Parts: sequence; C-alpha cells; structure tokens
Amino acid sequence: MNGLMMQYPLTTNTIVEYGNRVFPHREIVTKLPNGAWHRYTYADMHTRTKKLAAALVRKLGVQPGDRVATFAFNGYQHLELYYAIPGIGAVCHTLNIRLAPDQLAYIANHAEDQVVFVDAPLLPLFEKIAPHVPGLRHCVLINAPAGVTTTLPGVVHYEDLIGDGSPDFAWPDLDENAACGLCYTSGTTGEPKGALYSHRSTYLHALTIMTPNAASVSSADTALLIVPQFHVMAWGFPFMCMLAGANMVMPGLHLQPAAIIDMLQRERVTVANGVPTIWLGVYEAMKQNPPAEKLSLRHYMVGGSALPASLMAAFEKDFDLEGLHAWGMTETSPLGTVARLQPVHAALPSDERLRIRATQGVEMPGVEVRVVGEDGTVVPRDGKTVGEIQVRGAWVIGGYYKSDNREAFTADGWFRTGDVGTLDPLGYMQITDRTKDLIKSGGEWISSVALESALMAHPQVKEATVIAIPHEKWIERPLACVVFAEGASVPDDELRRFLSPQFAVHQLPDVFVPVAEIPKTSVGKFDKKAVRRLYAAGKLGK
Ligand code: AMP
Repeated sequence: MNGLMMQYPLTTNTIVEYGNRVFPHREIVTKLPNGAWHRYTYADMHTRTKKLAAALVRKLGVQPGDRVATFAFNGYQHLELYYAIPGIGAVCHTLNIRLAPDQLAYIANHAEDQVVFVDAPLLPLFEKIAPHVPGLRHCVLINAPAGVTTTLPGVVHYEDLIGDGSPDFAWPDLDENAACGLCYTSGTTGEPKGALYSHRSTYLHALTIMTPNAASVSSADTALLIVPQFHVMAWGFPFMCMLAGANMVMPGLHLQPAAIIDMLQRERVTVANGVPTIWLGVYEAMKQNPPAEKLSLRHYMVGGSALPASLMAAFEKDFDLEGLHAWGMTETSPLGTVARLQPVHAALPSDERLRIRATQGVEMPGVEVRVVGEDGTVVPRDGKTVGEIQVRGAWVIGGYYKSDNREAFTADGWFRTGDVGTLDPLGYMQITDRTKDLIKSGGEWISSVALESALMAHPQVKEATVIAIPHEKWIERPLACVVFAEGASVPDDELRRFLSPQFAVHQLPDVFVPVAEIPKTSVGKFDKKAVRRLYAAGKLGK
C-alpha cells in the first residue's frame, strides 16, 4: 500500500552496525580461561565479527539456514559468533555444556550441526560427544594453545580462521523473519526440544528488556553477563547491551562467588543477571567478607527459578543492593515478565512491597499471559484462582523446531508453559507449582521420569519415584524413593554409579530413601503429590 513505512528488517546485523556507529568506544571485557583479562571496543568487535562472517562463508562453506553450533563459555569470541553466524543468514545454535553427553549428541544430530566452535577447557567433554555426531565437518577451537592435540575432526584455530577473513565483508540482505538462533530445552518431557528464534523476535526482545520497566539499561551501564551464553542466549543481554551501548563483562568459566564479586568491583558493574543459586553464593561470600565500598550495582536481575524474598531482603538490608525478579523460558526468548513496583504500590508497607517484588511480575509489552483452569476456561485475575500459565507474544515460539508435536500449544495458539499459578488484578503473576515432572537445580533441569526409569532398570530395584525437594543453595534437588526387591538393599553410591552413564553428575539424586511402597493414584500412577506430602511431614528421610 502506498504511503506506508519503509521496509527496514529488524536483524542482528542492524544491531551490531548500530553499536559500531553509535558506541564504537564502549567496551567488552572478558576473563579468559587462564584468568587473564581481554578487553576491546565495540569497534574492534565489529571488525573481527565481519572477518569471522567472511571466513564462515568462504573458508567453512557455511550456507544460509545452516546451523552452526557453539560449545563455549561467555566471552568475546562467543559474542562475535552471536553476530557473525546470524549475520550471514545461518543459525547460531548454542549447545548447553551442562547436559549429559548422550543428550548433547542427540541435540547436535537433531540440529544437523556440521560446524562447531569449542572452547578449549571444554575439549575433553566435546571429544566424548563428537564421535556420535557423524555430520560434523569442522571443529573450530577457541582459546586453545597452538600445539593442542585432539581427536576432533576438521580442527581449525579460531584466530587462524578470523585471520583468513576480510573486514570488508558486506552483510547479505536478510528477512527479519529468518531464523537467527537455536536453543534446545531439556525442560520438557521426552527428548530435548528446539526453540528457534527469528531476527525479528531477537531484536524486539532485546529492545523491550532494555526499557525502564524491565532491565533499564543505557550507555551509562556496565553489564555483567553471568547467565551463560548457552542458556537462552544469555537472556538476550548480548543484543540488549549493544543496542543500549552498555559495556559488557564476560566472566568465562569464572563463576565462583569470589570471582564474580571481583568483577563487580573491578569493572564497576551496574547491572547483572543470574539464577538464584549464583546470587545466593554471592550473598554468602559478601557476608563473610564484606566489600570495603558499596558496589556500583544498581540491580541484579534474577530468573530461571524463583528469587527467594528472603534473599532479596537480606541483600537490601546488608548491602543496599536491589534484586529484580523476572520470569521466562527457553520458549519465550526468555523474558516474559518482570516484577517492578508501580506508583500505586508507593504507599504500601515495606513487607507488602517486598512480596510484590518477589512475584514473577507483569507481562512486558509484546507478551500476553493468561491463567487457564482445568476446565479450559481463563480464570479471573484475582490473585487466588490457580491454573496453568499460558503465554503468547512476539518472542514466544509458535512450535518446536522440526517437530509436529503440538501438545504444548492450545487450539487458539497460546503456549502452555507447564507452570501453575495466579495473576492478581494488576497482572502480577505468582508461580506456585509446575505440571512438568521435572526438577530445576541450580538453573538446570533434571527429568524425574528419566531418573525413575533408569533406577527401575537396576535388578535390585522394584519401584522408584523421584521428587523435587527444596534446597537452600540449588533451590531444588532430586530425592529418590526406592522400593528394593524382596530382602535386597543397595548402597547409595552403587545406585549413583549405576545411573551415572546416562546422567550428568549434578543430575544424580543426593539421597535414595528406601520405602516399603510408593503411594499410587487411582489409575496406578505414582502419586507424587502424596510423596511430596510425606516428605513435607518429615516421613521421608534417612
Ligand atoms: P528454561 O526453559 O530452562 O529457562 O526454564 C523455564 C522454566 O523455569 C519456567 O517454565 C519455570 O518453571 C522456571 N522459571 C523460570 N523463571 C522463574 C521464576 N522467576 N520463578 C519461578 N520459576 C521460574
């Protein structure tokens, strides 16, 4: 139609070009695996990203639409990949390094990854996976010493690859609806599922989380990106920061509380993100060794699991630091809601204000949330009526990657989160439970069903069920209840050894409680609600 706006595709290329034009002197600071610091400007990053993009096309033969995988910590090279891969029309597929090797092999095969960028400290781990991914053509090593020996196929060093590129590379024209990033979630039943983000969804998500009602980030800020780049694109911070002109601090593998506190101080960080386990650790460390000066941190953003109100209150009381609670999922790019107070809350008593800030918060513009009861009708926003949380929006997936499975979608196209909770009259969401039979420990999923099946394969185990129990540091941990075969008993260590080939170490239950029987529902399924009640009543334990 005449007279309408020009077509200006919202792509990640426009983000990196904007950063270079407007904020060329802003900085990206990385703590390398060996503890040394690397720092350079947006302008330097832009030049190297162009060279990398050229090399991806000309040296590695990457085609538009191809998935290019990363297996890496947060760092400047990973950031360059975040822009170079989508910049040529390919898809940046971040592999979650914390998953079990067989899950990773499944994911890399499902995504048909042919090229992977591997961070040197993760080489031994990736060498276990690569033989099970027959399509791999090139493995590019990041941070690896020149003479490193490895069993990986098609090895190239990252700096050699970039050295072959040209800074004059011209970005191709891209459709804003083309795919740009791919993350798999293990937070579902069955095999991991892929969430494929578009350029447009990535751009709109980044722009929205930058706004004052959300993360509120500008060129006056320095952001510490604690959330790994292999977890839902580091919550979109690499894109948001570049649009805002914020300095980015990349911690690499240095995620211990003392290292984080050092980075917060040294770089005068003003905003940061992370799961509750990280902030619990930082709080404990600051309690033991209080910083001499108040930190520059304006707020620390928390999501992935519920931010305990007690932690928020303690940080505020002891260190005058503000927590900002947000909720989201791999399927929602991830940020969907954020809990900030509104003027209407100004006169409320402080404990009530804290309670509201500890909810999961309200929808960001671009996302809609509703709660649906068991009968399929939308329940009132009364803060009381519980139902399933469903969402739709500009950065919510419309289906899983290469999957016809529509179980997670309603007939009218909303995404079923598997979270259960309420909305109050002002739209503040409170998550009270989840329907997914999963445990979220330190920000990573553990499938209780997978643990149960694996345990029941042990010859001395008749029945087993696994529930999530609250944990101070990890927020949740798995607890296994086991019915042993007549007269048998198996030590915990042996059960852990038996499970370990199929699970990552952090996924193994800490405790196996022997029980005479497991409560069942009327249709003979394990009644996990009853098991949880037994636990709450102190009737399970050793
Ligand atoms: P993931 O896809 O791994 O990011 O996990 C998303 C899930 O993590 C959600 O469906 C929730 O179950 C949980 N989650 C994320 N953020 C929060 C939060 N702020 N409070 C409670 N649960 C959360």
